[in-house]
Amino acid sequence: MSRIVYVNGAYKPYAQATIHVEDRGFQLSDAIYEVIEIRDGGLVDATRHLARLARSLAELSIPPPMSERALLQVMHTVIRRNRVRDGIVYMQVSRGAGPRDFALPPPTTPPTLVVLARAQRRGWSAELAETGIAVKTIPDNRWGRCDIKTVMLLPAVLAKDEARRAGAREAWFVDAEGGITEGASSNAWIVTGDGTLVTRQLDHHILPGVTRATVMDVAKREGFKIEQRTFNRDEAIKAREAFVTSATNIVMPVVKIDNAVIGDGRPGELTRQLRLRFHQVAEFSA
Ligand code: PMP
Repeated sequence: MSRIVYVNGAYKPYAQATIHVEDRGFQLSDAIYEVIEIRDGGLVDATRHLARLARSLAELSIPPPMSERALLQVMHTVIRRNRVRDGIVYMQVSRGAGPRDFALPPPTTPPTLVVLARAQRRGWSAELAETGIAVKTIPDNRWGRCDIKTVMLLPAVLAKDEARRAGAREAWFVDAEGGITEGASSNAWIVTGDGTLVTRQLDHHILPGVTRATVMDVAKREGFKIEQRTFNRDEAIKAREAFVTSATNIVMPVVKIDNAVIGDGRPGELTRQLRLRFHQVAEFSA
């Protein structure tokens, strides 16, 4: 079965799915994206992802390519036509195509929309979560609007590569004051000695993670204490537990930060609980 992708109004086999060579996403990173978990053929937390997509577009004055309802329908069609049970939907919206120019094109320029689905084996992240991952701290050299989910991902690509070369799976960005902002493709969390969950406050320096928001819902239901504030590397290394959240990893235990062992070096209990309960609380739409 050949994979099918949605591009600008048509469902096409991969080999025939193309965008314009002067697409502004390609030339200028003038584009935003979303990644949504597919579970049992349905979407996890689609409402929150679509709300964030709408916000990213509005912040950059890119017109929405279609209504949210229509976009949902496209996502479900792509999932169905590729027969994906478990995996992710990736969608990208750019400000469209035209002769390369820094000046914004007329607002009537149709945005480019690509929606694809990729299968991922159900157990892979659960297996990784049994042992947990290592992270490496790296200076945050991104721009000042990390709250917008743009495709301008080069700092994250390079940070993840540097982390990988040091034997870590994720990079944690550190700001000029020494505070951890977030992971290269995840939100960063610690659990303090008294069992309080700590994750950075929402501001222009981090992405408002959808998984972060749903994990907060889970934590509230379980009666866990939550603090949204900045923490630094020293506090993280002394933490009882640490973990990251993202649509692809859900809740992933962190057992090492820059080679310092967190807690007893095994995934923590609160982290385990949050992971276990996540899909009971997250929205599911088939
Ligand atoms: N921060 C960054 C920089 C990310 O790239 C991601 C994942 N796209 C996240 C946080 C987590 O966001 P979400 O839970 O919505 O996947």
